[in-house]
Amino acid sequence: MTVNYSKYSDGLVPAIVQDTATLKVLMLGFMNEEALNKTNELGKVTFWSRSKNRLWTKGEESGNFLILKDIKVDCDSDTLLIKAEPVGPVCHTGADTCWNEENKPSELGFVTALEGVIKDRKEKQPEDSYVSYLFHKGLNRIAQKVGEEGVETVIEALGNDDEKFVSESADLLFHYLILLQAKGFQLKDVLAELERRHKAKSDNDE
Ligand code: AMP
Ligand code: ZN
Ligand code: ZN
Ligand code: ZN
Repeated sequence: MTVNYSKYSDGLVPAIVQDTATLKVLMLGFMNEEALNKTNELGKVTFWSRSKNRLWTKGEESGNFLILKDIKVDCDSDTLLIKAEPVGPVCHTGADTCWNEENKPSELGFVTALEGVIKDRKEKQPEDSYVSYLFHKGLNRIAQKVGEEGVETVIEALGNDDEKFVSESADLLFHYLILLQAKGFQLKDVLAELERRHKAKSDNDE
């Protein structure tokens, strides 16, 4: 297989990695001759990392290697197409592919977990649970709690006890998550609205 490395001023050829089973495009990396040789030798996809400035075997830290299945060069020998079997998520964000936004683990991991607990209490209504007690009391009581915690947060914001401020803020956020759940929403719905406004704003700025 002849690869035209000299086509690029830095001698690095783009290498598209495709899942050998699903044919999904997994990621893009760059290879020089050394990286290609290493890939063949290890049977694991190895790039030349421009940021690390060294050979980089994908998965060397995470264990999420790309097991080499096939390498092809394109029509004019300046791009590689690699078929590989991914051992785990390919993207450093934890997503299956570098183009899959959907299964990225949420940056709001803990909030999401907490929302899961709240939902569970709402559905199962265990007796010894405060959250389940609030759902039992109903929307009025839950909304009122958010108001109370909001006022308490404001009071502490104007005082000088930071610990109390953080504590009341936690109360507020917790009850707000319960209110969202009671109304059939999640924090991500509210964040989506904020993001929409933010985008609309930056569109106007252009
Ligand atoms: P890994 O090679 O999976 O052990 O990951 C080591 C480092 O390489 C990560 O911390 C990221 O900086 C980078 N990295 C991992 N996967 C990707 C990817 N798909 N695209 C770009 N950079 C990556
Ligand atoms: Zn080409
Ligand atoms: Zn990625
Ligand atoms: Zn409070």
